[in-house]
Amino acid sequence: MSDKSAEKHTEARHWLMERVLAETRETAHLTGFSELSDRVIKAIATTPRHCFIPPEQQDWAYADAPLPIGRGQTISQPFIVALMTELLAPGPEDVVLEIGAGSGYQAAILAHLVQQVYTLERIPELAMMATQRLQELGFANVTVCVGNGVQGWEEQAPFDGIIVTAAATETPPALVRQLKPGGRLVIPVGPPHRTQDLRVVEKDAQGVAHSRSVLPVVFVPLIDRG
Ligand code: SAH
Repeated sequence: MSDKSAEKHTEARHWLMERVLAETRETAHLTGFSELSDRVIKAIATTPRHCFIPPEQQDWAYADAPLPIGRGQTISQPFIVALMTELLAPGPEDVVLEIGAGSGYQAAILAHLVQQVYTLERIPELAMMATQRLQELGFANVTVCVGNGVQGWEEQAPFDGIIVTAAATETPPALVRQLKPGGRLVIPVGPPHRTQDLRVVEKDAQGVAHSRSVLPVVFVPLIDRG
């Protein structure tokens, strides 16, 4: 990349960050927080979103909007990525699971913040592209695998946190089971292609799950097959 285009992207990321912070303040009455933690800000501000986006969408790489990534799927709006990451409250020693790798962008953000990220994607072509990108960008602590995330990832469980980036009609029980006590699941729940409810499910020390609604969102559906 030329110095000039690197500079252009750095500046675009700066403006995107301003937008994400403004939206965080504007939604404080729903989320309960008006600021993002420094670690999440740094992860968003340093991750090159343009590397996760197809060539024909490059002009919008740093718009605060979801964008098509092929196969009818989308990379999420950066504000929603920031919000879900903040809600997950990831710690440096954590092992987390993402359902819906898509472009690999959310996994890259998490990779800055935790020890190990596992991410499942049902479309092999997207999983392959995400793996390649993450490797090229030097993210050594992300493992992408093709699979149906509704079942979670039993072999790698339990997880400190699970983030689902596709909308489920109800919370998959396997995901709650695969959370550690004290762990958190962040998941959009609701009908396909309608407004859904972004929820945080916390498993307490006794293993009892408590759910709360945070914000209306719209995600592509979580598909329970293949
Ligand atoms: N986190 C992604 C956004 C992905 S969009 C990013 O940062 O780009 C949601 C993704 O979930 C799509 O790629 C879709 O194929 C995938 N998906 C849908 N149902 C799934 C399932 N049951 N298991 C795994 N992935 C699923």
